Amino acid sequence: MAAPLLDVVLVVHRKISNPYLLGKSMAYTIVSNICEGIAECVPACPVACIEQGRGANEKGTIWFKIDPTTCIDCGVCLQVCPVQGAILPQERPELVIN
Ligand code: SF4
Ligand code: SF4
Repeated sequence: MAAPLLDVVLVVHRKISNPYLLGKSMAYTIVSNICEGIAECVPACPVACIEQGRGANEKGTIWFKIDPTTCIDCGVCLQVCPVQGAILPQERPELVIN
């Protein structure tokens, strides 16, 4: 657990200390139809911005989504997700079920 916490501290410090990054949207995205609803990302997120989406995805599983207005781009969710390609380090709203 020490490594993800250190990552969060470093990202927050980077955002605070770099004016270019302040206010810039860098949210991560959970690809709705690749997510398998395992939810390891939910308790790992330091700002609690991952919530379950409605219904099932194309795989027939529950799925989760990231609130891009709260995400701090720390990358912890990507580190803990066991499903390859389910989380992207970019804001890609077109890959999220409405
Ligand atoms: S993004 Fe990954 S860890 Fe999070 S619910 Fe989907 S499959 Fe599970
Ligand atoms: S990048 Fe960090 S803040 Fe954003 S959803 Fe993932 S764990 Fe949460």
